Amino acid sequence: MDNYDVVVIGAGISGLLSALALSKEGKSVLILEKENYIGGVCRSYDINGYRIDTGPHAITRLSNGPLKKLMDRYFDVIPQFVPFGKYYVRIDNEIKPFAWNINAWLSFDLLPKTDRILIMKCLFNAFYLLTIGKDLSTVPLSDLLSSKISIKGKRFINWLCYFMVGTSIENTSVLRFIDNKTNKENSIRYIGKIYDLFISEGALDQGYPRGGLQSIINSILTSFPKNVDIKTNEKVLKIDCNEKVEGVITEENYYECDTVIYSGSASKLPYLVDDLPEEYVKNLVTIKNVNSLTIWLGLTKKLFKNYGSQMWIDSDPFAWLVPTSNYDPNLAPPGNQLASFAFILPDKFNESKMKKKAFNAIVEIQPEIERHIDMTHYQYLIPEKASWSINSGFGDVKTPITNLYCVGTDTIKRSAGVSRAAYSVLRCLELVMSNEKSR
Ligand SMILES: Cc1cc2nc3c(=O)[nH]c(=O)nc-3n(C[C@H](O)[C@H](O)[C@H](O)COP(=O)(O)OP(=O)(O)OC[C@H]3O[C@@H](n4cnc5c(N)ncnc54)[C@H](O)[C@@H]3O)c2cc1C
Repeated sequence: MDNYDVVVIGAGISGLLSALALSKEGKSVLILEKENYIGGVCRSYDINGYRIDTGPHAITRLSNGPLKKLMDRYFDVIPQFVPFGKYYVRIDNEIKPFAWNINAWLSFDLLPKTDRILIMKCLFNAFYLLTIGKDLSTVPLSDLLSSKISIKGKRFINWLCYFMVGTSIENTSVLRFIDNKTNKENSIRYIGKIYDLFISEGALDQGYPRGGLQSIINSILTSFPKNVDIKTNEKVLKIDCNEKVEGVITEENYYECDTVIYSGSASKLPYLVDDLPEEYVKNLVTIKNVNSLTIWLGLTKKLFKNYGSQMWIDSDPFAWLVPTSNYDPNLAPPGNQLASFAFILPDKFNESKMKKKAFNAIVEIQPEIERHIDMTHYQYLIPEKASWSINSGFGDVKTPITNLYCVGTDTIKRSAGVSRAAYSVLRCLELVMSNEKSR
């Protein structure tokens, strides 16, 4: 029987970051991964000469966010990030950069002037309600937005809701849009967002890892000290605990440990741990994950010349186009372009119908693309294990079992994707270390 300080369940980015941090803090760590690969939904692989990621990725908050903190503290090798560039909005076949501040918004004529005023009104109304202490976490964005907005304007806001939250405007809480970056005590609440609104230049602290998403995973793996073991193809079936963690059980082995960090879906935790409190389980089973389809196209011609991504508001379903090889030409064969199109899907869908619908949506918006396709690859993946939507559950890093923690995008309501995963790891570290001190 093997014995470790910590067993980490899952080798996605949340599990790997947790393992790296705790091993560098002196713990012996075992990572158990059920698949035969490492990286979960944050990795790259090769198809017909193209280097493909698990979905298009903009890595956010790189100047002082949670991933930066973890990289500074624990990485021996830092991945290289290139700027993510502008977000272009495409409506009625016209393309313009996303309007990040009021000045740009006033001249953002892809939307009618009345829509721009109504959206502005909605935002200021939200800030006002916050200053008088209203809880906006359960108020849908649709409640604050005037019904006079045009179909185009509503589609624009809906696009943002689907890609930022994973759900529609009716299910998105107003608070998600005011998720502020300023976290200092005594700072005026939401000042960061108001500042952004007036003078932000855009998403300047976002990047793409040169060499693909795999570069982040490779940096973590290279930075592991000797006290980390990884086993793939080993699914954890049970977490053995009474009031506190004793070990984990897989098909082949029992591993004794003091602490378990679980990075799979929190909604599946009740299958791994017996006798969790009823109230706790009730919340976990109402978590809704976000579903996505990505279509990767290898193109014989560089059709998308702008440096940055495109928000396709007109397409059905909504699409986010990221010409990935514009960030690193080595991701495609010489002279070719690699482009990814991400779609957020409903809770239930028919895979083959959805594939067809999404592909047709691309061709409808950009017909000439069909003549230049050299490679097509489809991915159904879960970008967020919990949608930050109204009326659905959300997990927590802390669990009712002593020394059992959860990390991942369903455990902390901050930011999204990799940044959210990294926030959860920082929170987990804080809890593990303070628990240690109090012993
Ligand atoms: C299409 C798409 C677009 C995205 N765009 C962005 C973006 O632009 N910016 C951004 O920051 N993020 C983005 N993301 C999200 C980001 O990739 C994820 O949030 C992040 O990678 C999640 O990491 P994780 O480790 O929490 O989860 P996962 O990667 O899901 O890892 C969990 C791991 O646990 C393993 N596991 C589960 N149960 C067990 C068990 N019982 N035993 C053993 N192993 C187990 C799983 O096999 C898996 O490997 C996107 C994702 C997708 C799919």
